[in-house]
Amino acid sequence: MTDLQPARGTHDLIGDDLRRHRHVAETARRIAGTYGFDEWITPIFEDTRVFSRTLGETSDVVMKEMYTFDDRGGDSVTLRPEGTAGVCRALVTNGLTQSLPQKVFYAGPMFRYERPQKGRYRQFHQIGVELIGPSEPLADAEAIACGWDILKALGVAADTILEINTLGDKESHAAYRDALIAYFSAHQGALSKDSLTRLERNPMRILDSKDEGDRSVVADAPTIVPYLTDAAAAFYAQLKDHLGRFGVPFRENPRIVRGLDYYGHTAFEFVTLKLGAQGTVMAGGRYDGLVAEMGGPRTPAVGWAAGIERLGMLMDAAPAPPAPVVVVPIGDAAEATAMAVLQSLRAAGIRAEMGYRGNLKRRMERANKLGARATVIIGDNDIAAGVAQVKDLTTGVQEAIALDAIAARLS
Ligand code: ATP
Ligand code: MG
Repeated sequence: MTDLQPARGTHDLIGDDLRRHRHVAETARRIAGTYGFDEWITPIFEDTRVFSRTLGETSDVVMKEMYTFDDRGGDSVTLRPEGTAGVCRALVTNGLTQSLPQKVFYAGPMFRYERPQKGRYRQFHQIGVELIGPSEPLADAEAIACGWDILKALGVAADTILEINTLGDKESHAAYRDALIAYFSAHQGALSKDSLTRLERNPMRILDSKDEGDRSVVADAPTIVPYLTDAAAAFYAQLKDHLGRFGVPFRENPRIVRGLDYYGHTAFEFVTLKLGAQGTVMAGGRYDGLVAEMGGPRTPAVGWAAGIERLGMLMDAAPAPPAPVVVVPIGDAAEATAMAVLQSLRAAGIRAEMGYRGNLKRRMERANKLGARATVIIGDNDIAAGVAQVKDLTTGVQEAIALDAIAARLS
């Protein structure tokens, strides 16, 4: 079995990697909580239609990235490639469409069949928020401000910049679509095969293509700005005002369309120059049509998702594990006392370990190796006196402390 490797594009989370991961998810959960978001956990696999109906048949995700298979009962299921569709499905199937707003936070694994590279995996993890109910641009600004606060709390905000765009409303969309069809039809020869399909079904999707040839055509494509209705332009202007009030710096990028079909009005990405081609760390927008696609009433919503791995890569150092206290009994009689002290430390919430192999020197070496902040050395004389020698390894100061006072002293 020695040739077994993790499946391509998957990775184990151990040590610093896991601590980074947890730190990102916990920080995000905490900050999202201050904005009133509560966590939902939806299933990791869903009926395939939850995604195929809603993400857009011409999106990269649906065209080539989904892990879809028939289960043993013959039902087609898909490992979730993103979180929003499942949350909207859950909103409808839990009868929550009349209890708005719903403010959802989620964190968990996502699956996409991609070509693995730095910052791009087949099983990766996302945090995300969905603000379901409000149709005002203030909601968009709040969701974005929450994301910005999370980036700040993680210490990575300085490495990222928010780029925003508007995709307009239905009417703007239709006019823009015609303009794009005219433009791309005139450049068909330079487009990839995928984009020729997109040209027929959803030309806006071409703007999001990663193909080199497509990108040079896209560079000169018309922007949506002249096609915006007054209402759509006003929505966008208000969003920018609100972002200013929240103190979130941004720049406009008319090329942002997002990879999934369900967006309208606001689209945004927090991007960084530090991760090469995988420069988008957090992305989202407004998706007023998605809940209806899922069989619910038309329900406005806005949200974003961020890759935990990409955020972790931007962080300077992984948070250190808590330094333990190591209890070192000298002699057999001391061991029973050491066990009692050990449990009193743990009961006080202190990370504590027993140093029980070898002579005193070996035990102290082990304490050092564990990165101990203190040792509690217990010899026969100590037991007789009801004390132990507590040594603070950062200051080097050692003192005798009553056994039942040790946990309080080290708290
Ligand atoms: P990209 O353009 O990098 O493919 P995307 O537009 O497909 O990203 P979204 O579907 O918006 O990404 O997902 C939101 C975030 O999730 C991304 O900004 C990124 O941080 C993360 N992400 C997406 N796909 C992957 C992946 N395969 N591996 C790691 N992180 C990912
Ligand atoms: Mg992608």
